Amino acid sequence: MFYNGLLYFATSKKENIFYSLYLISGLVWIALSYGLIAKAFNAYGDAVFVLNLSLITMPIFLILFMMAIFETRKFYPTEHRILQGMLALLVVTFSYGLFDIAMALKPASSLAALMMVVTFSVSISLFRKGHPLVKFFLVGHTFFVVFNGFAVIYYKGLIEPSYINSHGVGIGIVLEALTLAFIISYRIKVLEDIRSRQGELKRQAATDPLTRLYNRRHFMTEGEYMVEQARAAGQSLSVIALDIDHFKAVNDTHGHNIGDLVLMNMADIFRQFSRDQDLVARFGGEEFVILLPGADYAEARGYAERIRKAVQAQSVEGVDGSAVRVTVSLGLTEVNAAMESVESALNRADKALYEAKASGRNCVCYFEAIACG
Ligand code: GH3
Ligand code: MG
Ligand code: MG
Repeated sequence: MFYNGLLYFATSKKENIFYSLYLISGLVWIALSYGLIAKAFNAYGDAVFVLNLSLITMPIFLILFMMAIFETRKFYPTEHRILQGMLALLVVTFSYGLFDIAMALKPASSLAALMMVVTFSVSISLFRKGHPLVKFFLVGHTFFVVFNGFAVIYYKGLIEPSYINSHGVGIGIVLEALTLAFIISYRIKVLEDIRSRQGELKRQAATDPLTRLYNRRHFMTEGEYMVEQARAAGQSLSVIALDIDHFKAVNDTHGHNIGDLVLMNMADIFRQFSRDQDLVARFGGEEFVILLPGADYAEARGYAERIRKAVQAQSVEGVDGSAVRVTVSLGLTEVNAAMESVESALNRADKALYEAKASGRNCVCYFEAIACG
């Protein structure tokens, strides 16, 4: 009961609070009919008789629970209206009971019978429409009906008393409550699955499948956000544009598959040298961009050199077993976060990259001084 109350605050899913209130009603009614309340609080007669209203609040919360968990308002308007009708009847009876409880309880058994018919037909209808959770509800509700049935037959003096029929209502409530608890946990699992699938789709939309680096679109939106952050914090931020040298020749000589292997290897080098906060993206074919938050010009230059040397030192194995080596050219610039967008800084990094290509490749150029090293 408390757990579902807490679940409501954690997930803000209405079914949890309805289930919690349903359990409270059930508990009150069981405690009342077994004399536990009289025993514990030494309260009898009119003072506790009003608690019999729990017999009406129980089906009220059960209906609200059904509406919430099966999402009838959204997906099953006809069933929703039928449940609404039943709910209205129960609420009227409950309100009447606040003034005259004895009168209100008189039609209780007819109301209970009607309730069974309504909840059962609605459940069967939802089951036929293929709702995945309804079958569990039907099982739980069947427990409830069968054990209550035993109790009613026993109360009417038609069968001999036994443990099952004299405790029928209580057993029915407990078994149904357990099944509803199962439905809640099952639904939480379904919602979690949906959420993780959505997370996976989001990740796929932001990354490049070959290298698993971020793609251009993600770089532009996330990069813009990082520039804003640097602006707010007054921090430096640098950007590097990188392009593999003579990559076309790698494809021509060793084939496209080895070319792909070189690209994947390149991504591994970036991952190895980057900090968590760095944003590394594959911008196009064999072009990459890297945004380094917190890095000023000198730091970014050190980083670019380390990458350049690491690429030069590594190789991948070609089809004939030979070592395929590549080099990279890099252009870098510090972002003027207070004044410009990521795009305009990237333009300068590109110009520096062009300069690096023009001055013989396998080197780093910086826009500020247009110096290469
Ligand atoms: P430069 O030093 O001037 O950059 O010369 P380059 O040959 O690297 O430049 P160019 O832009 O002419 O060629 C890039 C090549 O990258 C051409 C294209 O086939 C190859 N490429 C682009 N994307 C992929 C890919 O996903 N896989 C492979 N294997 N090759 C790719
Ligand atoms: Mg190239
Ligand atoms: Mg290129």
